[in-house]
Amino acid sequence: MKGKTKMNKIDLCLLKYIACYAADNMYEEFNTYDEAEKWLQELYDTDGPEGFAEETVNGRDYIAAVVSRSRFVVQDKKENYHEHTDACPEDCDEEEWPYSDSMDLVGQIELQMIVDQKETGDGK
Ligand SMILES: [Zn+2]
Repeated sequence: MKGKTKMNKIDLCLLKYIACYAADNMYEEFNTYDEAEKWLQELYDTDGPEGFAEETVNGRDYIAAVVSRSRFVVQDKKENYHEHTDACPEDCDEEEWPYSDSMDLVGQIELQMIVDQKETGDGK
């Protein structure tokens, strides 16, 4: 799928876990399993005295590891193309950027598998 993007500098690779609290349809993202567990535990500590949510009792809360994420793969850039100016000859046939001027890049979205650095041994 072609599309435009503003390149996002946030390092999403740090994000490894998603915790879900089903009763309120809440999701949070965490760098470690322990942080995710703590977040859920705090919700249970809050809810416990008033009664646990039915969803919690029925096992619908969870902590999930992120195994793949989307990324934008650049296929072409506007800067690789000619832009007509007053200096161009009238019959200038240099190739122009074939996409909208509001886009600087075109590319596609890929889902990239995340390799656990602890498992491969090249962690920081
Ligand atoms: Zn030109």
